[in-house]
Amino acid sequence: MENHNGSRMNYKLWSEKILYFYWVMVIVSIIGQIIGLIVTVYYNPEYVGGFLVKQLVLPTGIQLIIILVCLYIIKVKQVYSSKVLTMAGTLVALVIILIHPNVQGLQVILLLPMAVSLIYFDKRKLRFSLTINLFALTIIYLFPSIRMAATEYDYISYLFALLAGYFIYSAVLQRGNEVLQTLRQSSEKEKELIVKSTMMERMSKIDALTDLYNHKTFQEYLDHLVGQSKNYNMPLQLAIIDIDNFKNINDTYGHNIGDLVLKRVADAIRERVTEEDIVARYGGEEFTIILTNKNIETAYHTVEAIRIHVENLQHAEMENGKVTISIGLKNYHHNLTKVEFFQQTDALLYQAKRSGKNKVIYE
Ligand code: GH3
Ligand code: MG
Ligand code: MG
Repeated sequence: MENHNGSRMNYKLWSEKILYFYWVMVIVSIIGQIIGLIVTVYYNPEYVGGFLVKQLVLPTGIQLIIILVCLYIIKVKQVYSSKVLTMAGTLVALVIILIHPNVQGLQVILLLPMAVSLIYFDKRKLRFSLTINLFALTIIYLFPSIRMAATEYDYISYLFALLAGYFIYSAVLQRGNEVLQTLRQSSEKEKELIVKSTMMERMSKIDALTDLYNHKTFQEYLDHLVGQSKNYNMPLQLAIIDIDNFKNINDTYGHNIGDLVLKRVADAIRERVTEEDIVARYGGEEFTIILTNKNIETAYHTVEAIRIHVENLQHAEMENGKVTISIGLKNYHHNLTKVEFFQQTDALLYQAKRSGKNKVIYE
């Protein structure tokens, strides 16, 4: 299975890391050569000159050129080609193999650049690396002069070692993809859960018909704002709005038209308050507004504007009949409890109803 993670991989960062790994390979190789040099100085001082050139300066120079070319491509050209880095890794390994002709089995270090290609988490890149490494192995075999002891037997053995490495790495990729898949699925589920819980939270706060806050949320806000008003002397008013003769509307035009009127009145209220005010459907055909940061006169003008607007609404479904509202509005005084504040506002609404409806009574 191919993975499509590439776009999310930070190629720049990982190209630099891969290059860093190659540096480590070269440095380890140089240390090995220096040890070799010390041994040569001790045992075969006559070969020191040849050793210096053939085993140290030349190979190190080639490896440095390979890495510097990569560095140039990555840092200057800002090209983060996986192919270039894969080939560079194989070349570095190849040089190490070639300069240690007496170390048996060193060909297996071709597995290292192949392991590096695993970083891309992409089977195609792994396959590309296998191809390049098989090619490198074949070069060693075809030119025995550059590498001693490269027999057919060696070649076949290393070929199988590389193939075995490839299959193991493929299995690692496959397992990685499985894990990734599981992770993706669980994060999808998590997202779904977040969406669901957000919806649930909204549903628990909002009245479905009018999209206003529901009774419960209104109580929470009133509780909180009465406390704020007490503590910080913040201006606060409460308005209770009740649709006049709403039962008649239901009885005459049906419940659906009743619902439509409820929505229309709700919109009319919402559109005429400020951001600082809280509108709720208290229940049935009753609404509440908690008004903050204004004096009672401004609050009165706000609710009176709502009353006039509702009175002037056109209701085609009701043969253009009128819908009116009555409103009780009260300014909060800090010696009132929340319950008293509500009851006294409700009493003002009752007065508005008793004295003919379609009016605002406030104090
Ligand atoms: P008043 O002017 O005194 O307020 O009279 P009213 O008819 O408006 O008051 P009453 O309390 O007698 O009737 C309210 C009606 O509101 C009764 C109920 O069926 C109706 N009602 C409550 N909730 C809904 C609703 O969600 N949809 C509809 N269509 N009607 C509702
Ligand atoms: Mg009522
Ligand atoms: Mg009513």
